[in-house]
Amino acid sequence: MLDSVLEAGKKYASEILEPGDIAIDATLGNGHDTVFLSKLNKLKKIYGFDIQETAIESTKNNLSSIATTEVELILDGHENVKNYVQDTVKVAFFNLGYLPSGDKNITTLPETTLSAISSITELLAKRGRIIITVYHGHDNGKIERDALLKYVSELDQKQFNVLQYQFINQKNNAPFLIVIEKK
Ligand code: SAM
Repeated sequence: MLDSVLEAGKKYASEILEPGDIAIDATLGNGHDTVFLSKLNKLKKIYGFDIQETAIESTKNNLSSIATTEVELILDGHENVKNYVQDTVKVAFFNLGYLPSGDKNITTLPETTLSAISSITELLAKRGRIIITVYHGHDNGKIERDALLKYVSELDQKQFNVLQYQFINQKNNAPFLIVIEKK
């Protein structure tokens, strides 16, 4: 069977990550992507961002105390990524929208999302990937989706491959994936 959008996102990350690599979780939420990354083979470091204190706490609680990867949890917007990350980054995850179990008024926003993606494209390793799950069921999500699709479809094809992975017969604005790969 075809991979679900979430499974495909993880696969696009795990197939390129190697020991010693640096990764970013740009939208921690409950920390599922950070937990996934922390279980992979000996990454050097994971940087996690969220603007909500509860997301930082929830991620801390979900991370195993025996995890060996260094994880830096940052209470700040991903648009400020360059204030914290100077390393070359192999993979960055974005899960757009709001935390289903949290305050639905706190969502990612087009301007800050695109600013973060633009900064991370500059930090990205050769063959590194930015993996974005787009939730577009809510009104802000549709505006963010359209801005994101315009932005990524205009990225220079000499520098980046851009993939859209989407089940086009699914109802109710099912989430889809965008992968930006640096050539
Ligand atoms: N991947 C997460 C998980 O495993 O639970 C779900 C992420 S949730 C869909 C989106 C998260 O992005 C929310 O926790 C929200 O607080 C966060 N967020 C919104 N704007 C942000 C920003 N500018 N920088 C970083 N995080 C942001």
